[in-house]
Amino acid sequence: MKEDSLIWFKGSVICNRDAVVNVMSPTAQFGLNVFEGLRGYWNEQQQQLYIFRLDDHLDRLFESCKLLSLDSVYSKDEIKSFIKDLLTVGDFNADIAIRLTLFVDGDGSWNSLDAPDLFISPVIKMRKDISQLTDSTACISSWQRISDVSMPPRVKAGANYLAGRYAHLEANRAGYDLPILLNSAGKVAEGAGACIFIVRNNTLITPTLQCSVLESITRDTLIRLAELVGINVVIREIDRTELLISDEVFFCGSAAEITPITSINSIPVGNGKPGGITIKLLRKYQDVLTNQDNSDVPVSWLTTIT
Ligand code: PMP
Repeated sequence: MKEDSLIWFKGSVICNRDAVVNVMSPTAQFGLNVFEGLRGYWNEQQQQLYIFRLDDHLDRLFESCKLLSLDSVYSKDEIKSFIKDLLTVGDFNADIAIRLTLFVDGDGSWNSLDAPDLFISPVIKMRKDISQLTDSTACISSWQRISDVSMPPRVKAGANYLAGRYAHLEANRAGYDLPILLNSAGKVAEGAGACIFIVRNNTLITPTLQCSVLESITRDTLIRLAELVGINVVIREIDRTELLISDEVFFCGSAAEITPITSINSIPVGNGKPGGITIKLLRKYQDVLTNQDNSDVPVSWLTTIT
């Protein structure tokens, strides 16, 4: 079995292709699942894999459960030990992404109160190569980010992502790589699957958590790291037009890490290349995630797999 085709599924470690759900289930029909996308970074020198902010991801997973009335039969500690066991069996010695999903299988409908099942799926996913950052183009979407009065953005549920799909495909059809979504007040919210930061006059700015954004762990990490490397951070609403006159813009997320946006609506951001603050933060971010520079960050951020 290839190491990255292993999956922890309903209590057993099996091959990915053998993990099946009922096509009539709430997860298959209505996207009734909550999930987390985690990253593990391999430190070659230390021969060690580090999972980043595992406790924080599990806290957010359980908050998503609470808001959707999903009652996990597994505790956070149990899930943690399943992850550790699975990664030990897989013997990963490369960067990975881990999808952790509580999903409602069975025959119920969207109002099912059945206990969710769990899968944990690790796959190899290398960190961004800072020496080869690509230019990503973005457009301001005509689609609005979901809101707390319809589909709460702080819930990380499968069904939420259809809203991102409209925006993403619209952007791609118009020739852009990625969309930037505004919220119902017309202020900048985030991307289809990533939070956003801008840089103006050497200050890093990101929308507040009340601007229709996911409570992103990377956003929180970068706010703290920016302060550590002496970059001023302001958390406030961002106007749409501010995007167009920013010196730098980037998306962030566990999967996206830091993704520089080099033009918006075909207008170059800054000089049209990934900016200095963006690169400085990405370097610091990767150093922390690989345990090369963790002296100033909470020890709980890195979980070792031995
Ligand atoms: N917003 C959305 C909609 C996302 O899907 C993600 C990725 N999980 C993020 C933001 C970034 O969140 P995190 O930093 O916790 O990965």
